[in-house]
Amino acid sequence: MLKVKNIVKYYGNNKAVDNLSFEVKDGEIFGLLGENGAGKTTTFRIIMGLIEANSGEVLLDGKKIDYSITDKIGFVTEERSLLTKLTVLEQLKFYGVLKGLDERLIEKDIDKWLERFSITSYKNRKIKELSKGNQQKIQFISAIINHPKLLILDEPFTGLDPINVKMMKDAIYELQKEGTSIIFSSHQMEYIEDFCEKLVILVKGHPVVSGSLKQIKEDFGIKNIMLRGEDLPLDKIKAVKGVLGISKVKGEIEVKIKDKNVAPKIFSLIKNSNITKYDVVEPTLNEIFIAKVGGIHE
Ligand code: ATP
Repeated sequence: MLKVKNIVKYYGNNKAVDNLSFEVKDGEIFGLLGENGAGKTTTFRIIMGLIEANSGEVLLDGKKIDYSITDKIGFVTEERSLLTKLTVLEQLKFYGVLKGLDERLIEKDIDKWLERFSITSYKNRKIKELSKGNQQKIQFISAIINHPKLLILDEPFTGLDPINVKMMKDAIYELQKEGTSIIFSSHQMEYIEDFCEKLVILVKGHPVVSGSLKQIKEDFGIKNIMLRGEDLPLDKIKAVKGVLGISKVKGEIEVKIKDKNVAPKIFSLIKNSNITKYDVVEPTLNEIFIAKVGGIHE
């Protein structure tokens, strides 16, 4: 289990991380979100022991992270770190050995992963000859070759097509089953919704939303009613107290309501229309992110 406790990091006078705490249990996928410059990379660097926090601490299975346990951590960072003149095999062996694996035993594992990601034919090709997506797969294999206790994934799906995203997702779920604690960061909210049960949203290094995704959605309150039908009394719906707005989304009418108590009022207005859809849905994480992060700039 990873515990991040009250970390603070300044660059000069700029507070990049402001009293951040969270926990990632074994087998949990945790989302670390925030707009550009919010402090995610800085947090990752502190967790990986690459830079020191001004205060606070980071514990992996109760131990401070130092060189003795960095080989239990895997990471796919936003700025890629492949040695492009090496071949795929040399690169993966290099990372494996760095992480304490036996060079003689490692090749079997490498072969397994290359086959799984359909890149066996690139085994003896130089990294720089590979496409961006295939380099990304190598980056991922480098991060997990040692079956890490903690895996940090910063935009891991960049450059991958949907088939390869699925392959990588399946591998991540397997690691989750093995008990790896996973921190996942992406600006693409659908991935976070897909993957993370718990998350934190940072604004200027400070957590403004944190907890389980389910709870965050409930606490947000605002819901959307999706409607499809003929003769919908849109003006009357707009005038209902608690209706925040109406818009067209993919051929349907989306009615944004303040909270779930407004829903029955809308239903009573439309029940005599020719409706083919009435669905009260939770807000998306994207909506919550924009409301919480955007609001702070206003
Ligand atoms: P992005 O989504 O764009 O990658 P981020 O959330 O990872 O952003 P950080 O890179 O952690 O954000 O940056 C947090 C703050 O710290 C920003 O204000 C940034 O300018 C500053 N910062 C980051 N690295 C350094 C550094 N090496 N020296 C000085 N300031 C830095």
